[in-house]
Amino acid sequence: MSNETRRPGRHFLQIPGPTPIPERVIAAMARQILDHRGPEFQKLGKRVLSGVRTLFKTEGPVLIYPSSGTGAWEAALTNTLSPGDRVLMVETGQFAVLWKQMVDRLGLRAEVIQTDWRIGADAAEIEAHLRKDKAKAIKAVCVVHNETSTGCLTRLDEVRRAIDAADHPALFMTDSISGLAAADLRHDEWGLDVTISGSQKGLMMPPGLSFTAISEKAIAASKQATLKRSYFSWDDMLAFNADGWWPYTPATGLLYGLDESINLIHEEGFDNVLERHLRLGAAVRAAVRAWGLEVNCRDAKYDSPAVTTVLMPDGHNAESFRKLVLDTFNMSLGTGLNKLAGKAFRIAHLGDTNELTVLGALTGIEMGLELAGVPHKKGGVQAAMAYLTDSVRPATAKAA
Ligand code: PLP
Repeated sequence: MSNETRRPGRHFLQIPGPTPIPERVIAAMARQILDHRGPEFQKLGKRVLSGVRTLFKTEGPVLIYPSSGTGAWEAALTNTLSPGDRVLMVETGQFAVLWKQMVDRLGLRAEVIQTDWRIGADAAEIEAHLRKDKAKAIKAVCVVHNETSTGCLTRLDEVRRAIDAADHPALFMTDSISGLAAADLRHDEWGLDVTISGSQKGLMMPPGLSFTAISEKAIAASKQATLKRSYFSWDDMLAFNADGWWPYTPATGLLYGLDESINLIHEEGFDNVLERHLRLGAAVRAAVRAWGLEVNCRDAKYDSPAVTTVLMPDGHNAESFRKLVLDTFNMSLGTGLNKLAGKAFRIAHLGDTNELTVLGALTGIEMGLELAGVPHKKGGVQAAMAYLTDSVRPATAKAA
């Protein structure tokens, strides 16, 4: 018998990924494994490969690697670029920092536009940088869509227009690891060349699958690119995926889960899923502001529908606060990353979440602020309730 005291009720997992898994996805994965070279698997393979395209809004291929999102970053760079190639990146936060670190390690040359980590990438700055590249030598523009560390979303449609306005041929790559199925994302319409994601966030699955949507232009670039790749070679994956197969043992159990996750998203209605994320995000920010605390994202244009990063008042440590909330209320909040360590905590509102789970989380935070002696005003939960009540009123009026 363990010495740990039992904690009744469910753990509130309010980190921005991995996110809680719906029972139906758990049940879908609790199955005997099948022959990954057999006809049953082929049906599953074809179904998920086609279903996942609807989430990226693309008619083109989406590759599914048995890897976390970082693997898809590596695949994107090594399949399309050659040693010494120049890459334009925007340091929107910690995940942009990590992607840039990979660019350095692979022998590419990053040119970085800095931000203060409180906004998304600024399209005008990208355009200005590309205009200066008269020789059109920059090969790729890499931007994080939803910067999970800062709670700021980049407007990819604006970045597309900026690249076009500069009349620049660079590939447009985006990391939408925490954006997919939480924020508006249109791979084809926005002319994205490589869009990367992962299973453990908006898709409400365990970690372990990465996704890469690729354009014709990116595939053409991969024929010329000379960086070394083997396991992550797009060629092998594309050839096998064409008939519903993988070039090596696929993550069969996770693919069962993916199949169900795609069903859940379409049963709710993809547009409804995105609208729910917007509403829940707005409710969380209403609470934070009513407490008198500061949302890290300083321009509403970049507000993330997936996660809100909250700045702690000076003299109060975000890590001690997170520990108090975990110990007292059995809730995990996201930690502050890199230069936000100790200075911020994050409230996730993505994946399988709704009005009451978000209000539950906010209640735990409001009680935690009181217990931790963090100066704040009462009424954050009330403000979120008021916002959410108003937001569902039209639907209830219709039902009555
Ligand atoms: N990019 C973003 C925006 C992320 O949020 C994460 C993980 O949280 C990553 C990249 C890294 O992905 P993974 O941990 O799945 O390799």
